[in-house]
Amino acid sequence: MSLFDQVPAVPPDGTFALVEAYRADDHHLKVNLTPGIYRDENAKPWVLPSVKQARAALLADQSLNHDILPQLGHTQFLSAARQLAFKDTLDGRFVTSIQTISGTGANHFIASLLASHLHPKAVWIPDPTWDNHQGIWRHVDPGIERRTYPYYDENTFGIDGDALLSTLREQANPGDAIILHACAHNPTGVDPSPELWEGIAQVCEEKGLFPIFDLAYQGFATGDVDNDAWAVRHFTTRSSGNNNNNNTPLEFAVAQSFSKSFGLYSERVGALHVVARTRDGAAKVDGVLKRISRAEITSMPAFGARIVAAVLHDPVLEAQWRQDLKTMSGRLASMRKRLYEELVRRGTPGRWGHVLTDIGMFSMTGLSPEKVAAIKDRFHVYLLPNGRLSFTGLTEGNVEYVAESIYQIVV
Ligand code: PLP
Repeated sequence: MSLFDQVPAVPPDGTFALVEAYRADDHHLKVNLTPGIYRDENAKPWVLPSVKQARAALLADQSLNHDILPQLGHTQFLSAARQLAFKDTLDGRFVTSIQTISGTGANHFIASLLASHLHPKAVWIPDPTWDNHQGIWRHVDPGIERRTYPYYDENTFGIDGDALLSTLREQANPGDAIILHACAHNPTGVDPSPELWEGIAQVCEEKGLFPIFDLAYQGFATGDVDNDAWAVRHFTTRSSGNNNNNNTPLEFAVAQSFSKSFGLYSERVGALHVVARTRDGAAKVDGVLKRISRAEITSMPAFGARIVAAVLHDPVLEAQWRQDLKTMSGRLASMRKRLYEELVRRGTPGRWGHVLTDIGMFSMTGLSPEKVAAIKDRFHVYLLPNGRLSFTGLTEGNVEYVAESIYQIVV
């Protein structure tokens, strides 16, 4: 008998389990199209040249010590992170920024802050979404309802904007939180148009919702960090009273990850920014976030934050980094084109045009969970069970094999 006999048996995490299965698979043609982790043209991890240079300089710096960081995190990192998200849109706004354990930690901190002090009845999560949104909110407070709002329309491979807006308008309650993917939506690769973003902002204002932007792929949608921050900056500026709308300015949060944009997957570099209407509100948020951080982490890890700060505070390295983003997004775009060509060349049943117009790392293939299982078993090609394909694992060397495998499975 153990005290833990009564603990529920938790099934393994689906994504990690697939990665393990892929590792254990010894088929010579296996292809991993599951992870949201950038791979180079040989399907190998890629260290960004800008990161490599900043890292080398840091390691060569004999004066570098290992003192603890300030409570909010690495100061230059935080100023650069804030600038990257908001640029010059923060006039008249009061923002609290804290370093976090990557995007996951930022999502977790804001969930903790809201759950313990604003007590939302529900959090609205797009359908579909990154699995961990459910997991984080369940973990923080299982008492907060996790409701989904319609997002992806499988028939059009686009967003069902009307359903999205009407669901929120009719069913959300004042004070509810809503998670919004700032760009390069995971898993669909489809983002709202500027008009739809305006509609979403308006519903949030009308209903008194608290938006949480999940900004995990800045630079991956268009290759340009400023274009990719459009939605975040739109919320900031429309809330500053510059846009002639009479609604109370929104307060909202941005959960920012540097895993993808800097290729720093293992360093866990992130930030949470909370935009408040008043100085006093921002000061209170500052206090609560410091308390959460103290209780959970005490102090954030420094190395990854130092790399990001070094890149973003050096014009030459920053220019290189912007080029690195173009290299990554460009490779993914060219793999989209190649897969599309190979699918169409074979006359693969289905509509594939969205593969070209989707953005970021992912597209939905429309393959059912059964077909996803079949393509894994027969061809050793790994996708997520919801049919999401990550272009990061596609290369010139395997794209024809992948297209042929999809063809064989759907024909
Ligand atoms: N948000 C989204 C939408 C993601 O897809 C991911 C990672 O896949 C994250 C947040 C968090 O990633 P990390 O904790 O590595 O920054």
